Order: sequence, then C-alpha cells, then structure tokens
Amino acid sequence: MIVRFIVFIIIFLLLWWLLRNVKDLIDKKTASLKNTASKEAKDMDMVQCEYCKIYTPKSHALKGPKNTFFCSQEHKDK
Ligand SMILES: [Zn+2]
Repeated sequence: MIVRFIVFIIIFLLLWWLLRNVKDLIDKKTASLKNTASKEAKDMDMVQCEYCKIYTPKSHALKGPKNTFFCSQEHKDK
C-alpha cells in the first residue's frame, strides 16, 4: 500500500515538473514571437518627407520641427 502511495507521489511530481517546463517553453516562444513582430512593425513604420513627399522608413528618416520628417539632410535644410 505504501509503495503505491510513493509511486503516485513520484508520478504527480513528474507531471508537475513537466507541466512547468512546457509552460516555460510556451511562454518563451510567445515572448520571442511578440518581440519579432513588434520589431518588424517598427521597421515597417513609414514617414513622408516634407520636401519631396517620398515615403521613408522611420528608422532612416530625419526628424524635423513640428513632428515632420525628411528623407535626407539635404531636404531637411531646404
Ligand atoms: Zn525628400
């Protein structure tokens, strides 16, 4: 009878450990997927040049006054 009880506890602990690990793995996977998605969205953010009206990725655009953007330093100075 006591052996059955010990076996039951071992199985329970194993299942608990397994569930915890699987949950950690899923959490990590979801977090990395979210990070990739938000990074791509940031790179894809386009802004319009105030001078030539061409769309440039925000990461490459130059910020001007009053929340305006420019494709190059040349257009910003004009
Ligand atoms: Zn421009």
